[in-house]
Amino acid sequence: MADRINADRLLSDLTHLSQIGAGPDGALWRVAGTKADRAGRDWLDKTMRVEGLHTYYDDIGNVFSRRENTSGPWLLIGSHADTVPAGGHLDGAYGVIAAMEVLRTLHETGHPMADHVETVAWFDEEGVGPQSAGGLVGSTALAGSAHADDLVGYLEIHVEQGRRMEDAGLDLAPVTGIVGVRRYQASVSGQDNHAGTTMWADRQDAGRVAARIVAALKDIILGIDPKGIGNAGVIHFGPGAANVVPGTAGAELEIRASSDSALDDIEADLHQTVSRIATEENCAATLTRISAKPAAHFDKLLLDIVEETCRANGRTDRLLSYAGHDASVLSTRLPTAMMFVPSTGGFSHSNKEHTPDEQLVLGTQALLESVLKMAPILLEQPKSPVALAA
Ligand SMILES: [Zn+2]
Repeated sequence: MADRINADRLLSDLTHLSQIGAGPDGALWRVAGTKADRAGRDWLDKTMRVEGLHTYYDDIGNVFSRRENTSGPWLLIGSHADTVPAGGHLDGAYGVIAAMEVLRTLHETGHPMADHVETVAWFDEEGVGPQSAGGLVGSTALAGSAHADDLVGYLEIHVEQGRRMEDAGLDLAPVTGIVGVRRYQASVSGQDNHAGTTMWADRQDAGRVAARIVAALKDIILGIDPKGIGNAGVIHFGPGAANVVPGTAGAELEIRASSDSALDDIEADLHQTVSRIATEENCAATLTRISAKPAAHFDKLLLDIVEETCRANGRTDRLLSYAGHDASVLSTRLPTAMMFVPSTGGFSHSNKEHTPDEQLVLGTQALLESVLKMAPILLEQPKSPVALAA
């Protein structure tokens, strides 16, 4: 029988952290690099500096804790300490506090695995501060550092930030991977002209091209990846008057899919569609890729272990993550896995973020049991190919 986490301490630590950087309405303002963010990390550091535990900051600002006088290697567990502006109290914070609870439980019960667990609170996952390097900053630094050689794996628990789990009545979800994300700029040029006197057949309507591309996006994505999703969040017509046929138009498109090959296929289809629609409307159009984040696939063995412990603790099903997480970066260097607890109403990046206490406790218990199952296996294994290739 595995040890039990201390549910009261978990919940009271979460409450404590949710007061650091809180506005009058309870929303959190611990944007990375701000005073409140630093105060939050300092509090985490101080909280873990108890008898027998050692804490430290690395150069980038990640906060770690582990047992004193241990020489590793360690299984790393944790999440990020920063928030978006007016964020919620669970995004990132839950995974950090849950990891701390797991280490303290192992430490206090004198479990031999206590020597091989390290916790982390990542610096700047969100990437929204004025000085930010774009998010996933702390995890990217660690993945490229020598300390990664001392680690055998990474495990993160996080709130789902959507409503799939609540809708399906799930308590816990092993996460199979994280979608890849690509962004594009579509630019269309036609001819601006009088909107009354220019007959349909004579138009070079750049606006119609952009609108048809936006409308086609959903079918293109779903035709290739049933789990894919997309968005057209920016569109503009020029010169921009009700009585002028638009001579120029642009749209920013985003696609998310479960694998890089699906992203490739969607991209190819999108290119074809853009040029076909432009030709049909007597316009010229280009599609330019602005950014690309690869899809992440978590370690199969660790995923099986997480699924087993989730199932032992509650209603469970595997999910793909549509939001980015530090775990995606770590998965390029170390065997990595993730698990979710539900988000009530699907709210996140908002002070409406909520998960029932029982599910926060269940998740942390499943995290502890996952650590106890995977740590001995990872410690015995020679470095996996993914680690050697990095
Ligand atoms: Zn997060």
